[in-house]
Amino acid sequence: MTEAGGSSTEEQPGEEELLERAAEQGIHRLAIPTPFQVGRVNAYLIEDSPLTLVDSGPNSGKALDELEQALAAHGRSIEELELLVITHQHIDHFGLASILARRSGAEVAALAGLAPYLRDFRAAAELDDRFAEQTMLLHGIPAEVVTALRAVSASFRAWGSAVEVTRPLRDGEELALRDRTLRVLHRPGHSPSDTVLHDESRSTMLAADHLIKHISSNPLIARPLDAGPDFTGPRPQALVDYIASLKRTREMELSLVLPGHGEPIDDHVALIDQRLRLHDRRAEKIHGLIAVAPRTAHEIALQLWGNIAVTQAYLTLSEVLGHVDLLLAQGRVVESESDGVVRFTAM
Ligand SMILES: [Zn+2]
Repeated sequence: MTEAGGSSTEEQPGEEELLERAAEQGIHRLAIPTPFQVGRVNAYLIEDSPLTLVDSGPNSGKALDELEQALAAHGRSIEELELLVITHQHIDHFGLASILARRSGAEVAALAGLAPYLRDFRAAAELDDRFAEQTMLLHGIPAEVVTALRAVSASFRAWGSAVEVTRPLRDGEELALRDRTLRVLHRPGHSPSDTVLHDESRSTMLAADHLIKHISSNPLIARPLDAGPDFTGPRPQALVDYIASLKRTREMELSLVLPGHGEPIDDHVALIDQRLRLHDRRAEKIHGLIAVAPRTAHEIALQLWGNIAVTQAYLTLSEVLGHVDLLLAQGRVVESESDGVVRFTAM
């Protein structure tokens, strides 16, 4: 699912140096443990007024404990936080937000369209699971695998927690702190709610999972934020959206990108170009498989990733469907449904 990230040459500054540059701007990375395969998630403490924390880590005692220690290492406590920013709807990023808001009284900022999702997280997650289940069955994943994955997903839900957004954000608006102005930019693709914060005067971006150095962000197919409870389609174009978002970021003047996982990025153009090439190559490979014989998206995923297509069925399915969407848009593949299962045929 992931490919190795940017190759480093000797002239490029290392992780420590880039974190030092962030620290000079008053931004401190706090790497918080998660129970997920992705490993630690980056929260960022911004020493400014209001005292700001971007993302929080998952809802677990271990994450809370480490967050408190990390804040203490910077002479800060949870009670002092004044503004929490939530970058997107994934539980490793917002799970602790409700506890932090309760203890500190901090404002909670997130994209306005994400607020209903966060307010009623349990119900939203349930609808997400239902949508994922329908999508998996429609694309050839066996019912017993779907049932097993649903149980896994339900067990993960405890790492999230509902939170009330008190400071809804709009795409393009400015979030003014005493010493800096952060422009809020909606960059959907990895999730429908991906939000990045751009400090134009310092050429710095807090990017969350929009751009990560060591892994290619998975454009997960997810229910649109404004979808009703009975939403069944059309299928959201996660990868198409993600590529459009990447291209917008590519055009920006940036010298420091602080991602939601892993180390800072100082050459976003090279990294984005690498990602765009990866997606091109993968689309070609998938086209090759479909050209041999019409296939379901799950069959394609099995061909590409073997058993991972079973254990991580929704992730791999999203990956395949994203690339098939690119091929559909190019008119190189057609989609047809029979007996409740979709197959793709090359033109
Ligand atoms: Zn994420």
